Amino acid sequence: MIPNFSYIRALSLEEAIRLLSEDDSRIYAGGTDLVGCLRDGVFSASTVVSISRLKELKGIRTTPSGGLRIGALTTIAEIARNPIIKTSYPALSMAASEVASPQLRHQGTIGGNLCQKPRCWYYRGEFYCLRKGGVHCYAVDGENTYHCIFGGENCYIVHPSDTAPALIALRASVTIAGPAGNRVVALEDFFISPSQDYTRETVLERSEIVKEIILPPPEKGLRSSYRKIRARRSWDFALAGTAMAIVFKNGQVSDARIVLSGGAPIPLRSRVVETIINGRRLDQKTATEAADALLETADPMGQNEYKIPLFRGLLIKELLSLGGYP
Ligand SMILES: Cc1cc2nc3c(=O)[nH]c(=O)nc-3n(C[C@H](O)[C@H](O)[C@H](O)COP(=O)(O)OP(=O)(O)OC[C@H]3O[C@@H](n4cnc5c(N)ncnc54)[C@H](O)[C@@H]3O)c2cc1C
Ligand code: SF4
Repeated sequence: MIPNFSYIRALSLEEAIRLLSEDDSRIYAGGTDLVGCLRDGVFSASTVVSISRLKELKGIRTTPSGGLRIGALTTIAEIARNPIIKTSYPALSMAASEVASPQLRHQGTIGGNLCQKPRCWYYRGEFYCLRKGGVHCYAVDGENTYHCIFGGENCYIVHPSDTAPALIALRASVTIAGPAGNRVVALEDFFISPSQDYTRETVLERSEIVKEIILPPPEKGLRSSYRKIRARRSWDFALAGTAMAIVFKNGQVSDARIVLSGGAPIPLRSRVVETIINGRRLDQKTATEAADALLETADPMGQNEYKIPLFRGLLIKELLSLGGYP
């Protein structure tokens, strides 16, 4: 049962920000995650503020510098099929194509995908766990098959978004609109790990709205990709995933951003992999060394050790593929 709430369609960004300053109000974009959270009692809302009519939050535009601005209300399906994104930012196009099912991609927005709540079954269930304000993480001694193997502390969720790791690899930033105006945050700094604060997922303050995502122009020699392994082919969240954006010069890596999905509470940059591959050709020796080094940093829980060979195989395969050894 979904509890009663007032539903208001904001007619301007200013009105939405003002309505959100009221206690216990929530943004509704496509509603695919919000409605489930209200139904399952993840949080409550006395007012739901729909932003779906805000035209300034829609669409994909090129910037004067040759980059892209993607409005927060742009659907995942629009991103997956956009020809500029397909050609210049393949990691993002691949990630968007891997999100959920066609129906959810048509309804779900990119802003909602970045701000969706974690999928931990205790959190989504009736357990008053640490992240909900309780004192206990039930995953530690409980069912932790789908939990993290990197970066867990206090809370062991994996970040659910496929698009976030791809956008971080591609150096995206977000414009956030709030009562004091706009601020721009690198997407890499947008997510909050449990070691910083286990009750929050992002740096958004009450009344703040993600307005758009900004992608810089693609560098010469950039190759990018997103791959994920999931339990079911039809739709599912990542068990293990990699987003890569690698710049090559004379066949060698001159710059690399490698971001993991399905492994950590935030989309996690793997600096250890980036350091190892920098300045080298992406051959079998380099890829294997990088994967082994990554997995030395893993700290699996009781039931998710199976993720280690998944990440190893995926990382080696994708590094070789971008390096031209398919
Ligand atoms: C069955 C199922 C399978 C799924 N599988 C995947 C998957 O494989 N990969 C994946 O990445 N995702 C997956 N998802 C998540 C799905 O992609 C998200 O539900 C969707 O992207 C959210 O978009 P929305 O517009 O519907 O957001 P909403 O449900 O409207 O909002 C989601 C949250 O973000 C907040 N919010 C929305 N827009 C903004 C904004 N502009 N600024 C600030 N806060 C905002 C809302 O208040 C809410 O808390 C799945 C979801 C379901 C239900
Ligand atoms: S992993 Fe996080 S969300 Fe899940 S039960 Fe533990 S504290 Fe709660």
